[in-house]
Amino acid sequence: MMRFILDRMLGRMRSWLRLFGYDTIYAEEGEEDGTLFLRAKHEGRILLSRDKALVERCRRRGVRAVQIRSLDIVGQLTEVMIHLGVDPSPKMIRCTLCNDQIKRLNKDELEALREEGYDYIPVSPPDDREFWQCTGCGQVFWEGGHWENIRKTEELLRRRYMTAERLRHKLEHWIEHSEGHLESYRKAMEEAGDLGLRDVQDDLKQAVQAMEDATGWLMSALKRLKMEDSGEG
Ligand SMILES: [Zn+2]
Ligand SMILES: [Zn+2]
Repeated sequence: MMRFILDRMLGRMRSWLRLFGYDTIYAEEGEEDGTLFLRAKHEGRILLSRDKALVERCRRRGVRAVQIRSLDIVGQLTEVMIHLGVDPSPKMIRCTLCNDQIKRLNKDELEALREEGYDYIPVSPPDDREFWQCTGCGQVFWEGGHWENIRKTEELLRRRYMTAERLRHKLEHWIEHSEGHLESYRKAMEEAGDLGLRDVQDDLKQAVQAMEDATGWLMSALKRLKMEDSGEG
């Protein structure tokens, strides 16, 4: 499973990635870029950052890094799905607060917690309601009211991923298609030349150039929609 280190501008991604089960740490207050790089390298973490220069430095020195461009959390999570294949389903294995492991509580453990004063734990929880506790910070989690919001976000993210996938297929199709069209344009250009129609030939030459440019842009867009975005441009 991938592990992450986030820069300080990506704070909201932290709890979501942990909810999805990924071991995710966050830059400490005042931590230098160099420290982030070293932690990523030594702990085998992928660096996620809004800072393009930092991402490029990491890559040059052999650390996996992805530049995050979106400002909103849904956009940011969409980017890590597209570029790294992050799975957006809640796993309930990791504490969203401290990143430690969480474990499911059985009836006796729940009863013990109630006696300790955790009075929000119902006396006999419905059978389908599960509780977990963090082995590190002790925080108790359960499928409460916020759970519906988590499920909605998961669905939204899956829909967005499918839209991105369809866009990728369209781009692939258009690129293939424009290569076919380019062939015909070049042929027409030659024919016009053979007929001595220089003005027609010149216009077709422009069309070939424009089509080559368009194909280049489509290829660039496709590259950005693929895994491990190069981060260029
Ligand atoms: Zn915890
Ligand atoms: Zn066509």
